Amino acid sequence: MTNDEGSERPRKIVHVDMDAFYASVEQRDNPDLRGLPVAVGYPAARGVVAAASYEARKFGVHSAMASVIAKRKCPDLIFVKPRFEGYKAISLQIRAIFAEYTPMIEPLSLDEAYLDVSEILKGTEIATVIAQEIRAKIKATTELSASAGISYNKFLAKMASGQNKPDGQFVITPKNGPACRAASDQEVSRRRARHSRKDASAWDRNTRRPQGADARVSGGAFRGVGAMFLRYCPWYQGGPGAKIRRRGRHVPPRISIPLRRLAKVFSR
Ligand SMILES: [Mg+2]
Repeated sequence: MTNDEGSERPRKIVHVDMDAFYASVEQRDNPDLRGLPVAVGYPAARGVVAAASYEARKFGVHSAMASVIAKRKCPDLIFVKPRFEGYKAISLQIRAIFAEYTPMIEPLSLDEAYLDVSEILKGTEIATVIAQEIRAKIKATTELSASAGISYNKFLAKMASGQNKPDGQFVITPKNGPACRAASDQEVSRRRARHSRKDASAWDRNTRRPQGADARVSGGAFRGVGAMFLRYCPWYQGGPGAKIRRRGRHVPPRISIPLRRLAKVFSR
């Protein structure tokens, strides 16, 4: 059998990801929207952007962003109601194309999937050519563009599909795989460090608060106890105490016994 690092016979994984899927479908079906910043979602106060066109992304709008913030970043943003039935139908078309190449399909959502093409059904043997063919077929059938990443495991294939987006593809071979993985690990720890700095400043804010009986019932006290709880939980690695320790700068809140017990249960 092959393993994840491909030391014996490397697997061939293709990660196919549609470009700005929902937004591209809306632009395809309504020519008036082409070339304009489009967000699929509701502009209401608590609405969220489900997908943003590339024109909108230039303004910093992205999916999962609050609609209010998106509108602030891009005042001309056009909101379009999502039509999930339509997206689902296209998703089935795409999967039918995948199935022409391999039965080993792992969909991640309506618009992306991993394909294991190690044992391909078609004549050609090169995964990059298969990815090109699949993308061309998707475009011919749906008039939408897709990007692909090709590698010897799912993690790297997914990483690769983002490299030449939109309408591109990228290969990570077993030779340059370890370097790519290291670069990604570095990025993760950079982000994590930034995150724990933020946590640390929140920790400082939360611990500068009135002490005594009043503190125990105020929201600030609850936040403080919550942070304390996380700090002493061995399983919570990203917490304020994970990297940056500022002991002595705060007065430890009184932790009630139930919380301590809870921490014990979780640490087992
Ligand atoms: Mg996508």
